[in-house]
Amino acid sequence: MRIILLGPPGGGKGTQGGLIEATWGFPRISTGDLLRRAVRDRTPPGLKAEARMNSGKLVEDELVLELVRERIARGDCADGYVLDGFPRTVPQAEGLEALDAGRLEIALDIAVDEEAMIQRLSRRLVCPECDAVFNPAVRETKQSGACDVCGAELVRRPDDAPEVVAERLKVYRDGIEPLLAHYRNRNTLVRIDGSGSVDEVFSRIQTVLAPRLQNRTAGRGVS
Ligand code: AMP
Repeated sequence: MRIILLGPPGGGKGTQGGLIEATWGFPRISTGDLLRRAVRDRTPPGLKAEARMNSGKLVEDELVLELVRERIARGDCADGYVLDGFPRTVPQAEGLEALDAGRLEIALDIAVDEEAMIQRLSRRLVCPECDAVFNPAVRETKQSGACDVCGAELVRRPDDAPEVVAERLKVYRDGIEPLLAHYRNRNTLVRIDGSGSVDEVFSRIQTVLAPRLQNRTAGRGVS
């Protein structure tokens, strides 16, 4: 099963993807995380992507597709995976289908209102070491300013600055309709109300996924 999470930046895709991973064992693949790691490691794709990421623009399709190709070829994806932040364009969606044809698919469009989203982005902190994401508005970390997972000092993402958020939103709005149409045509699109608490949203996702994933528990089961 390939689970695709669509929705605006700050709309909860990462959090919900993490819960899907914990519940059913499909690894969550965030192209934002893969790219940030590449930037941090100063790899050639990272160096190429950095300026566009910092200004809130999309990175080239070919570069992102290559990162996804490498990631889904790993053994832990054999049964399926959750995609967070990918695809963002129709060519990426088509590229993915060519890379991994014939896999069962569902695209969840997590719909949130813009005010809620901007609020979330303005408060969130990320761990530069392990990519964990925290939001003090939702839940305080055990030790203020430190990562609950690895203890590193939390930072703000450079692209969560208000002017970059505005650009990311514009990029999202410009690209989302053709992508939704693409998945509507494939008959794999399901809209999820993204309002309310993390648990409320996850329970809506569970209602959609559970019948499709009967017999599966974290790390094992049917594909
Ligand atoms: P995210 O963590 O998903 O918000 O992504 C952060 C930034 O990484 C985006 O603003 C883009 O610059 C870049 N990025 C992440 N995923 C993609 C993608 N699928 N296609 C193009 N650029 C991406």
